[in-house]
Amino acid sequence: MAFPMRVTRAIVHLDSLEANIRAIRRQIGPERRLCVAVKADAYGHGAVPVSTALLAAGATHLAVATVDEGAELRNAGIGAPILMLSPPSPEEVDATAALELEAFLSDPEEAAGLSAAAGRVGKRLPVHIKVDTGMGRVGCAPEGAVDLARAVCRLPGLRLAGTATHLSVADSATPDDRSYTEGQLRSFAGAVEAIRAAGIDPGLVHAANSGGIIQHPESLCDMVRAGILAYGYLPDDALEGAMDLVPVMELESRISLVKRVRAGDYISYGRMWRAPRDTWIATVPVGYADGLPRRLSGQYRFVGERGARPQVGRICMDQCMVDLGPEEPWERWGRVAIFGPDPRGQNAADLARLAGTIPYEITCGISKRVPRIYVR
Ligand SMILES: *Cc1c(COP(=O)(O)O)cnc(C)c1O
Repeated sequence: MAFPMRVTRAIVHLDSLEANIRAIRRQIGPERRLCVAVKADAYGHGAVPVSTALLAAGATHLAVATVDEGAELRNAGIGAPILMLSPPSPEEVDATAALELEAFLSDPEEAAGLSAAAGRVGKRLPVHIKVDTGMGRVGCAPEGAVDLARAVCRLPGLRLAGTATHLSVADSATPDDRSYTEGQLRSFAGAVEAIRAAGIDPGLVHAANSGGIIQHPESLCDMVRAGILAYGYLPDDALEGAMDLVPVMELESRISLVKRVRAGDYISYGRMWRAPRDTWIATVPVGYADGLPRRLSGQYRFVGERGARPQVGRICMDQCMVDLGPEEPWERWGRVAIFGPDPRGQNAADLARLAGTIPYEITCGISKRVPRIYVR
């Protein structure tokens, strides 16, 4: 039996995604490769439909975090190069090779494991050397880059497709952070130069994330790895106005119940909110299990046909309540926007600010039970 779709849904505007890709393209010029991070289900937007649209809009590479994420794209028939940003476990190297996911290598041991796996599936696997220039997560020390490059070149199963680093504060506009990023880029340039001086082709040289794309032209190299910009948000509020972007995701629901409550009545768990006057209360079937952060309880407004109204009381797992005010009630089953590109409502960055987090965490957190609808 086909079920009607749930009223709480995420609308993904693919035309906005494409407009953001054009904006990134203007920023990086026509020649460079453009890798877009589609890890975490394309930051919550849906990996397969988003990847398909990205490749059609001019992305040349995709990036995932895990083997499963890479497998999902390959199973959907996506043949484009896929970078895998987190290392595969020893149990995952065979799948990595079979799916031709381009791993980031930190040491010769990883390289040997992947080469053996590639041999078992009869492939020469493209890999990237990761140089840790100050992120402190994965990668080899800059002084070790040449040795790692040599190790890769000696292994029969591997091909050196690229050399990369990752910037930890490229989105920050403070002078101290800007100079830290410049230091990272100098250290990276030194490592790349040493690889070349050893007679090894480093492959595609890449460093820039969204912050680098906006603030550090010298980080653009041969390829950029854009993430949040593609989804319509800046990596940091301080960069406001730096690029013309359109938020891609909209979260909406409908009012499931409208009721009159009296002054003094309590709403929701913990009796955190008490009606200061007789009023109309709407119940909306969206809660923290859908990704609406519980810590936003009572801090946030929902937008309907007649403007914005405060959400009141604790946000529950599956539902929450909105104070419509004492006058006319809103229509039951009328649409409300939780966030979206709608200029009258908040977008995920506004919501993130209120919740003390970043837009990444908001869109990634929209859970699996919220259906995604793709529109153009
Ligand atoms: C996620 C990620 C990116 C993209 O980051 P944004 O800040 O979203 O642009 C780029 N490179 C690496 C290694 C990543 O993990």
